[in-house]
Amino acid sequence: IAKRLEKFKTTIFTQMSSLAIKHGAINLGQGFPNFDGPDFVKEAAIQAIRDGKNQYARGYGVPDFNFTIASRFKKDTGLVVDPEKEITVTSGCTEAIAATILGLINPGDEVILFAPFYDSYEATLSMAGAEIKSITLCPPDFAAPINELKSIISKKTRAILLNTPHNPTGKMFTREELGAIASLCIENDVLLFSDEVYEKLAFEMDHISIASLPGMYERTVTMNSLGKTFSLTGWKIGWAIAPPHLTWGVRQAHAFLTFATSTPMQWAAATALRAPDSYYTELKRDYMAKKAILVDGLKDVGFKVFPSSGTYFVVVDHTPFGLENDIAFCEYLIKEVGVVAIPTSVFYLNPEEGKNLVRFTFCKDEDTLRAAVQRMKEKL
Ligand code: GLN
Repeated sequence: IAKRLEKFKTTIFTQMSSLAIKHGAINLGQGFPNFDGPDFVKEAAIQAIRDGKNQYARGYGVPDFNFTIASRFKKDTGLVVDPEKEITVTSGCTEAIAATILGLINPGDEVILFAPFYDSYEATLSMAGAEIKSITLCPPDFAAPINELKSIISKKTRAILLNTPHNPTGKMFTREELGAIASLCIENDVLLFSDEVYEKLAFEMDHISIASLPGMYERTVTMNSLGKTFSLTGWKIGWAIAPPHLTWGVRQAHAFLTFATSTPMQWAAATALRAPDSYYTELKRDYMAKKAILVDGLKDVGFKVFPSSGTYFVVVDHTPFGLENDIAFCEYLIKEVGVVAIPTSVFYLNPEEGKNLVRFTFCKDEDTLRAAVQRMKEKL
C-alpha cells in the first residue's frame, strides 16, 4: 500500500457494520437509514432508466440537475450561481470533498480541520500531500475555539474545512462563529471548504451556509448531497458549488477521478430537489421524534448525552460504565449488549481526545431505536 495511506485502516463505519452483522447487534453506528427513500424519487430513477438516460452524463452534471441545484441554493441561501460554471455534480459528497482537495490543494499547503472530523477529510488531505492541522470542538457545547483558530493560521494555510451541522457531534455553527471564521478567512486569504450534507437535518437552529456571508462566496466551496436528505445514501449523488476560479480545480480533479456521475440517478435527483417544502417539514418532524426516543432512552440508560442541534447523530460520554476507552466500550456494547455505536477517537489527530465519547445514530425506525434502548437498559 502507498505510504500516504498506510496509517489508515478499514474505515470505522465498515468495521462496525460488519461487526453488527457478525454479532446480530442493532446497528446505531454507520449513518444510513434502515428505511427507504421516497417513492417519487425512486420512480423518477426507474423512469429515467426506461427513457434511455443511460450513457455517460456530461462531466460536470446533467443540465437539468445543475439547474435544479442552483435554484435550490438560491432558495436556501439567496445566492445566485451559474449552473453551467459554478456547479459540479460528483459521486456523493465524499467525491466532492476529494475533488475539492485534490483540485485546489498543493503538497505542503496547510489545511485546518475541526476535530472530531469525518474520516475521509484526513485521508484525502493525506493523498493530496497536505499538512493537516486541527483544533478541537470540546464537550459539552462543542463551541468553536476561535482564538485557537486564529493562532494556528499561518502563511502556509490554504484552507479551512468546515462541517455544519457537524458529524459526529451534532453541533451547528452559530452565526457568530461563522462570522468569526469568515473574517479570519478574508484577513488571511484562506479558502473555506464547507460540507453541508446534514443541512436539512437542522433541528434546534437554522442552518447557515458560510458562503452567504459577506465576502465569502468567492473563497468558498459548498458541498452537499442527496443521501441524507432523501434517505438514499447508496445513490452517491453529491455536488460542489464554487465560483468559476475554484470550480476549475474541482472539475479538473473530478474529470480524472470519476469523469462523470450516474446519469439516471442525476435525473432522479433533479426530481428530488424539486420536492415541495412539505417534504422537508415531514422529514424534520420524523427525525425529531426519532431523536427524542434515542436521546431520552440514552439518558435513562445512564449516559451523559451532549446536546445535538442537527444531523442524525448524538454523542455521549460512556465513562459512567467504567470501560477504559471508546473502543473498549464499543466492543463491549456490541458483544455483551448487542448494540453498535461508533467510537470517536478515530476522528481526532490525537485519539486520546475522543476516548470518552461515542456516537449513536437515530436514522433508524422507531421500533429499532426502542429495541436498542431496551437492550442497553437490560444489559449495561
Ligand atoms: N457518513 C456516514 C457516517 O458518518 C457513513 C459514511 C461511510 O460509511 N463512509 O456514519
